[in-house]
Amino acid sequence: MTLEQTLPICVAGTWRLGGGERYATCYPATGEPVAWLNAASLEDVELAVQGAHQAFLNSGWAQRKPHERAAVLYRIAEAIRQRSEELAQLQRQDNGKPINETRALVASAAGTFQFFAAACETLEETITPSRGDFVSMSVYEPMGVVAAITPWNSPIASEAQKVAPALAAGNAVVIKPAEITPLLALQLARICEDAGLPKGLVSVLPGKGSLLGDALTRHPLVKRVSFTGGTRTGKHIAHIAADKMMPVSLELGGKSPTIVLDDADLDHAVAGVLYGIFSSSGEACIAGSRLFVARSLYEPFMQHLVAAAAQLRLGDPADEGTQMGPLISAAHRESVERYVALGLAEGGRLRLGGERPSGGLFDQGYFYPPTILEGLDNHQQVCQEEIFGPVLVAMPFDSEAELVEQANDSLYALAAGIWSRDYKRAWALGRKLQAGTVWINTYKQFSISTPFGGWRDSGLGREKGRLGILQYMEQKSLYWGMSQQPLAWAGVEARP
Ligand code: NAD
Repeated sequence: MTLEQTLPICVAGTWRLGGGERYATCYPATGEPVAWLNAASLEDVELAVQGAHQAFLNSGWAQRKPHERAAVLYRIAEAIRQRSEELAQLQRQDNGKPINETRALVASAAGTFQFFAAACETLEETITPSRGDFVSMSVYEPMGVVAAITPWNSPIASEAQKVAPALAAGNAVVIKPAEITPLLALQLARICEDAGLPKGLVSVLPGKGSLLGDALTRHPLVKRVSFTGGTRTGKHIAHIAADKMMPVSLELGGKSPTIVLDDADLDHAVAGVLYGIFSSSGEACIAGSRLFVARSLYEPFMQHLVAAAAQLRLGDPADEGTQMGPLISAAHRESVERYVALGLAEGGRLRLGGERPSGGLFDQGYFYPPTILEGLDNHQQVCQEEIFGPVLVAMPFDSEAELVEQANDSLYALAAGIWSRDYKRAWALGRKLQAGTVWINTYKQFSISTPFGGWRDSGLGREKGRLGILQYMEQKSLYWGMSQQPLAWAGVEARP
């Protein structure tokens, strides 16, 4: 297929041109088109959901034994591994992340399918303690059609985290990837089909979220939405879900604190803080964007941090050594720039960065350097709002009580990091922080077997973990009467 040709999309088991507008996805490092496709239309949403519903009812997928469904998921994991380099290169073009990061995301997607295959074939239904002449059981049923709505920052990994458990549970899935990064979701649908998944069980609808994601969420046949994205969109989806009495999981934004105590190992803390905020160019929900450093350590720590941040390799995502690629789009870079200007207007000082780099590729793509601000208070706007870029705000703290209050003073509560040599102290602090994930002497490390999600405006529900599959199932209690006698209640003695 040449660049000018229009990519088909996957609607209810058929690959065909979307019914919406033609548009190009662009490589953020150069701004050049990667592929052309037609967005899905509202008619495509209807076809995809109806097709998914029919596939759920008629393909026999939900009735297959768990180990049979698992066998298909293992094949999907294997196919992702076999095509890993091609997928990683495509993802680099799709969203501009450095190749080493996209390789890790593809590997994580394969691991997710493998993990949920195992979760599927080992899921237990329980016989619960009986309180009468009956056997009581708790069992799980698939839900039907699940919508997976994903953002642009980690394609394929985000989709896998929703599609793998939803399919493992016996459901059909309609994926709505971010408009600007649809290519990996389309590839995933091909892989699922080639691995023997019945047609129609996975559809992919690229295009505008306000049109397609909204219609998908409202559709009466959609029984659950698993959403990752911004908090404003998540709340909109939650409102629709409330009207439908539909369960949702919402993985939303963050403004995570990273805390360096006065007894921290400096080298470890500097490396961890840098990775926490600047990897993925800060386009990560869990980015450690608020840095709190014990005042006694503040200046030496900052000197070390700024010197190390200045050495980070910003550049061509195709180069093996690149640590930071471009931001996703020109509009997003402008939004990051507005936040830096706001921080300065609020009284902040730049310790590093704050200006677009220039020359060569920097003049074509949407690059922005590691940027560190200081001189701000936690209540100020740049400390409270998610910037979603490579911008760190550093603040000294005096007492641990003041630190806890400030670290928790955020609408968001997704993640936090603590750097300390004293494990008892770090443990006590970790228990006081309000966040879905707390990393101690590490940051941004993940295991598919560990639940992930946020508190407050960072979200509802959890993904991952062996029991993550249950999010995509309805629980049912079954009672089996075992008594030889009729129920001892009215009317039994009156029988002639
Ligand atoms: P976004 O909310 O704009 O879009 C996310 C998805 O929702 C896209 O597919 C979009 O098309 C769709 N969408 C948009 N409007 C919709 C509507 N009205 N109804 C239904 N769907 C709609 O977010 P984004 O800009 O793509 O991603 C960045 C955000 O995602 C950041 O806030 C980031 O923190 C968050 N995020 C969270 C996690 C997490 O796990 N907590 C992970 C990654 C990203």
